[in-house]
Amino acid sequence: MSGFVVAIDGKAGSGKSTTAKGVAKRLNFFYLDTGAMYRAFTLKYLRIKKTKDDNIDFELVYRLLENTTIELAQHNDELRVFLDGEDVSKEIRSPEVNQLVSPISAIKEVREWMVKKQREIAQGKNIVCEGRDMTTVVFPDAQVKIFMDADLPTRAERRRKELLEKGINISLEESLNNLKYRDDYDSSREHSLLKKADDAIVIDTTNLTIEQEIELVEKIVKDKLKTFTR
Ligand code: C5P
Repeated sequence: MSGFVVAIDGKAGSGKSTTAKGVAKRLNFFYLDTGAMYRAFTLKYLRIKKTKDDNIDFELVYRLLENTTIELAQHNDELRVFLDGEDVSKEIRSPEVNQLVSPISAIKEVREWMVKKQREIAQGKNIVCEGRDMTTVVFPDAQVKIFMDADLPTRAERRRKELLEKGINISLEESLNNLKYRDDYDSSREHSLLKKADDAIVIDTTNLTIEQEIELVEKIVKDKLKTFTR
């Protein structure tokens, strides 16, 4: 059984990662970044297949799923992602992974593997999780459900800056194109497409600072926590 679940969905750059991380830290909840898990698996595939196109080798994907371990650990303020025991936290943010992660994430078997794993990770914990299907598929009974959004130019600029801080330099145009490509892919795929759950609270972060985003969500969670009985 899981504890208190705060589920946040939204497009890339909508502020969900920063908000989820900030709220988890303030409330001492476990932070579950599900995008990092899809990225780690995509990296594993890419290391073998070294491809740029989305012509996926499904047999390879199925084979890899049988012997992959992905673990998330909180180290000081950073989330560390381990792929088969190796720390790949930085590598999973590369442009190559950005390019292929959506087609890989659209595969039904990959999603089933991830959902199972994500629920296992959540067992017995209070968590803040974020992704594309947290509120709709993985934790439909979450105590708090939030859908975050922001306009495309704002999201693209945020993502560009975020990558720059990690030492990866891309232009605003590249950032914009990649986001648009992933938005379209994630919102139109057959399985677990990105959509707002009926009962999710929508937060548009276009004109909000990070601090405001975190405070807003923290307040929603705290109000709900007052009425929570396990
Ligand atoms: O959140 P982030 O941008 O790191 O996610 C990378 C990609 O992983 C998304 O564009 C999406 O294709 C996929 N993803 C997903 N379901 C999730 C989280 C991420 O399909 N729950």
